[in-house]
Amino acid sequence: MSQDSLNFDTDVIIVGAGPIGMTTACALQHHGVRCRIFEERKEPKEYSRANNVWARTQELLASIGLRDVLAEQAYQIEKQTVFLDGQPLDQVKLDEVDSPYPKVLYSGQDVIEKTLSEQIARRGGSVERDRKVVSIEQDDEGIYVTVVTASDEQANAKPQRLRCRYVVGADGYEGTIRKAVGLDFETEKI
Ligand SMILES: Cc1cc2nc3c(=O)[nH]c(=O)nc-3n(C[C@H](O)[C@H](O)[C@H](O)COP(=O)(O)OP(=O)(O)OC[C@H]3O[C@@H](n4cnc5c(N)ncnc54)[C@H](O)[C@@H]3O)c2cc1C
Repeated sequence: MSQDSLNFDTDVIIVGAGPIGMTTACALQHHGVRCRIFEERKEPKEYSRANNVWARTQELLASIGLRDVLAEQAYQIEKQTVFLDGQPLDQVKLDEVDSPYPKVLYSGQDVIEKTLSEQIARRGGSVERDRKVVSIEQDDEGIYVTVVTASDEQANAKPQRLRCRYVVGADGYEGTIRKAVGLDFETEKI
């Protein structure tokens, strides 16, 4: 075991600043673990995809101090009405859950991502944007992670090689890390 191989730039590198990557960053910060989070996009997406946060997820978010800040930016939903041809058809109760947080939090993924990004900053970190992880190499003591400036990638920007103990692949269903570790999950194009 060489001293160089134990010379870590940080403990955990998170690849991808979607909701999973940023929640992981907040959780690690909450527990005092050093981490860095890289996101290839320069800007957060301006539109929503995921909207709802359910009771069990809220309980987990509460345990790392995130539930209330997300709730401040969300509607709290008790029931859902199903419409057919413009007429209300049925009402589904959503809050009959044995939880301190039975109501569903409804906002938007863009709002959630903005709040999580602010929480990372409040805890002393930052999302490193325009930074794309292009490869990882694991050995017995840790991992080397190669990062480039995404907007310079075509111009062969000088790669930066960082050393860490763990990598979290939060780079989505078609991400670099899934392929690098040889996961055989095949996505289906519809
Ligand atoms: C059209 C649409 C509608 C949806 N509607 C809903 C819904 O109503 N409710 C719901 O719960 N879910 C919905 N989803 C799913 C939801 O958006 C995903 O479950 C969620 O985004 C997954 O979060 P994530 O953090 O795992 O990945 P992502 O949000 O995909 O984030 C991954 C991030 O990693 C970054 N990245 C990728 N590769 C690299 C790399 N090499 N280096 C650095 N960064 C990298 C990407 O730029 C991205 O920002 C929807 C998805 C889509 C596409």
